[in-house]
Order: sequence, then C-alpha cells, then structure tokens
Amino acid sequence: MPNTIEVPVLVVGGSLVGMSSAMLLGHYGVRSFVVEHHRGTAIHPRAAQITQRTMEIFRTVGVEQIVKRKSAEQFVQDGAIMGVESLAGKEIAYYIANLNDGIRDLSPCERVFISQSLLEPLLKQRAEELGAELRFATQMISFEQDATGVTAQIRHRDSGETATVRARYMIAADGAHSRVRERLGIPMRGRGVFSNSVTIYFRGDVGPLLRGRNLSVIYVINPVLRGFFRIEIPFTSGFLAVIALGDPAHPNTDVSTGLTDQGCLDLLHAALGVDDIPIKIEDVMRWQSEANTAARFREENIFLAGDSAHVMPPYGGFGGNTGVQDAQNLAWKLAWVLQGKASPELLDTYERERRPVGEFTVEQAYSRYVTRTAPYLASKGFQPVAHDMNVELGYCYDGRLHEHPSESKGRPGTRAPHVWLSENCSTLDLFGRDFVLLAGPDWNGTTNLQVHKLATPELLSAYGITSREAVLVRPDGFVERRGTGCP
Ligand SMILES: Cc1cc2nc3c(=O)[nH]c(=O)nc-3n(C[C@H](O)[C@H](O)[C@H](O)COP(=O)(O)OP(=O)(O)OC[C@H]3O[C@@H](n4cnc5c(N)ncnc54)[C@H](O)[C@@H]3O)c2cc1C
Repeated sequence: MPNTIEVPVLVVGGSLVGMSSAMLLGHYGVRSFVVEHHRGTAIHPRAAQITQRTMEIFRTVGVEQIVKRKSAEQFVQDGAIMGVESLAGKEIAYYIANLNDGIRDLSPCERVFISQSLLEPLLKQRAEELGAELRFATQMISFEQDATGVTAQIRHRDSGETATVRARYMIAADGAHSRVRERLGIPMRGRGVFSNSVTIYFRGDVGPLLRGRNLSVIYVINPVLRGFFRIEIPFTSGFLAVIALGDPAHPNTDVSTGLTDQGCLDLLHAALGVDDIPIKIEDVMRWQSEANTAARFREENIFLAGDSAHVMPPYGGFGGNTGVQDAQNLAWKLAWVLQGKASPELLDTYERERRPVGEFTVEQAYSRYVTRTAPYLASKGFQPVAHDMNVELGYCYDGRLHEHPSESKGRPGTRAPHVWLSENCSTLDLFGRDFVLLAGPDWNGTTNLQVHKLATPELLSAYGITSREAVLVRPDGFVERRGTGCP
C-alpha cells in the first residue's frame, strides 16, 4: 500500500451500501476508495428481498439483468410472503401472495430475491469496472476532518501495514454499529433495541414440507418461537431467523444468550413442525432487532448511509434497499459538487431528503414487526401500515413522505413515473446520468439540457402536464420541477 492515498471520496464499509455507493459514484464519474474489514464480500445471505426501486437503480448502472439472472439460480422468484404455525403445519396468513403480482405496471423492473452473498460480488465487479478501488481485510482505524476534507488512517488486518487516506468527502457505510457515527457523537433515535436475535443457517431436505408452495419469506408464529425462514433452491438449505421465544404475550426476546447447537436444533424442529428430517447447523449469526434512525446524517464532510444511518427490523425487507437509495441520492450530489456543477449547498439536501424517508421506513418496518409477529409491543403505539408500494417506490422528498406511485404523476419531489416508450425502453431509461427535460409537444422554452418530447396523451397524463409544459428530472430520477417556464 502507498503511504498516502488521495481520493475524492473514501467509503468506509464495503458491504451492500458501501459497494453500491462506490458503484454509483463511479457511474457519475467520481473515483472512490473503499475499505472493508472483512476479507471479501458478504458471507451471510441477510438481505434478499430487492425492491423494484433498487432494481431500477441497478438498471441505471447496468447490473439489473445479471442480478435478475443470478437471483433465479438461488431462489424460485415470485414467491409468497406468508405466516405459518410451522412449515409442516397450519397456514396463518398470506401477506403477499406473489411478490410481483399487481405491481408490474409501476416499473420496468421486478422485485427479486437474491441474498447479499450472491449480490455483492456483482456490485463489486461493476464498482471496479467503473473505477472504484477496493481494499478488503482493511480497517479504517481513525479519522479527523478539517474544512477541506477528511484524513483517515487505515490498517491491513493481516500484514498490519498502515496508510493515510486523504479524501474530500467520506461516506460511513459501516453498518448498524457504526464507529464513525459513534465517534461523531451522533445519537440514534427511535424504538430502541427489542430483541437479541439469531439467524440459524442450516442444511436439511425441507423441500417436501413446502408441498409445492412457492414461498419467499415464511414467518413462523407459534408458542415456541417467532421468526422467519428463507429456503434456497434446491430446498436443502436456508436460514431461520428467530426474534422471540415462548409466550407471545410475554416473550423472551433474548434469543441469543446461551443458545447452544442443541437449542438451535430444537428451534428448527419447532419451526419446521417435524423432527425427523436430518438437519445440520452450519452457522449462527447474532444481531439485534431495533428500529432507530440517526439524529443527523451528516457531519461536515462525512455522510452516514445505510444501516449506519437507520436500522430497522427485517420485516418488509426494507433495510438494505433503503441504504441503496441513500447511496444513489448522495452519489450524484457528491459528483455534481466535486465536478463543480453545483455549489456545496446541494449536499445539505441529502439529510433533508433522506432522513425523513429513512425514519418513515424504519417506522414502517417496525409496524410490520408489531402486527406480524410482536403484538405485545402494540400497546406502545405504532404507525398505520402503509401500502408496500408507498414505502418501496412512493417515498418522496416534498414533505409528504409517501404516496402510491401511481398517484404522484410527476409532482416535484417524487420519483418520475415509468411508462413504456417501446418494448424494452422505459421513461426511466432516459434518466440516470444528467438532468433531463421531458417536454410537451407545444413547449416552446429553451435549454441546454437534453430534451425528450412527451408525444402522447398517455405520457402527458402520467407526468401531469399539458402539451405546453415540461418536467425537469434529476439524475436520480426524481422530479425537480414542472410547469410552462421549466427549467
Ligand atoms: C436476517 C436478516 C434479513 C434481512 N433481510 C433483508 C431484506 O430482505 N431486504 C433488505 O433490504 N434488507 C434486509 N436486511 C437488512 C440488511 O441486511 C441491512 O440493511 C444491510 O446489510 C445494510 O447494509 P450496510 O452496507 O449499510 O451495512 P452492513 O451490511 O452492516 O455493512 C457494513 C460493513 O462495514 C464494515 N466496516 C465497519 N466498520 C469498518 C471499518 N472501521 N473499516 C472497514 N470496514 C468496516 C463491516 O465489516 C461491514 O461489512 C436483513 C437483515 C437481517 C439481519
């Protein structure tokens, strides 16, 4: 390693959000340097439910198709999200019958199931293609900031070799227990921690218990445990996440303390509903269920993104996806400022836009957690469950926080709507690199920007404009403004 590395953006943490940040920065023409403590990309599956919005972001940078192809190798797609007493036993509820039913018109992309262990190598490859420098087995051990940037010390875990990184900006994508956030003295606010949870990775032929059902997430709700299964093709491996034990009204939420291999096996048997399938426990991961948002997302030249900015229970599959949205929102703004195309004040909008959305999403995950699995928390209050699409595609930056994406109609602060322009080309494919103007056929303004004419009544109506008006769309596909004088 050279002794001093100079780079526009240092990314701390090279998991889902750090890697997405590096990929998106590269896409917008900014070089980044990523340090990741682990020796490679994720070994644990964790996030698997990838929303349409995340797939739209992946489409922008050219990885949507490979992600889709790989996902089909790992999970049967278009499965259900449902609750059971046990896999062999009684069904309680179908929360979503088919992951993509009824939502295909909203986006050129589909929801997919692919775990972080399979997804991250794809993002890594693309990030490197786009110029990111990645250092695994490397830890950021300290940092200081001044008016013009951040100076960080990094150390290789094996060789002990150290180096200094000097960056204009730093992204802290260092996860739920973010040391950067801690060092900056930024508190977390919200519902606190409500379970010491575990994920038990296992092997065993559970295929027959599926009885032909296509199930993406299987919540288990019985007197022994509350948690959820994910089972991979060919249905001989998967995980059981467990977040509470015993009496649902007065549960034991410290699942992880003292949990033995036999204890894991007993939990698996209780969740499967049978104990005659040979099961091998492969690994156990300990984590905390919590619902908290950082009080600030920025401290001068340092930005929090992903779990370092918001931690939510994995009910709804929002955590990682929200982090990818942070990465996208921040990447183009950093690029515009670093490239001198915008003043640094643009960076103030990162926290202004992403913090309320992050907090809303945390609360939505919490509400799903309470209503699907932890009714004993209901007495403390929770927000009404919003439509999944409001959370996944309808989050907005205009103060309303969310609405159904079919209703936003190109309103400033919302995601620009998808309409097919030809067989494989969506309106969304016009965005993603620069500001773009969509103009009605009779708009007679002038601009240096790329202009696309909205030639049909369907397009004008989707974007809520008359033939004389235009819509200005940002590089992240959000509407900046619209009207006759636009831009
Ligand atoms: C059981 C389970 C299921 C889930 N399912 C879903 C789902 O279906 N969909 C979804 O969207 N989300 C899901 N999530 C949430 C999702 O896993 C997280 O939101 C996501 O991993 C956050 O990514 P991140 O990159 O912000 O943080 P992390 O994945 O925690 O990564 C942070 C990285 O930073 C590195 N790091 C930390 N400090 C340093 C340092 N000083 N120097 C160098 N490296 C450092 C760490 O090694 C780590 O790799 C699930 C979570 C769990 C536990």
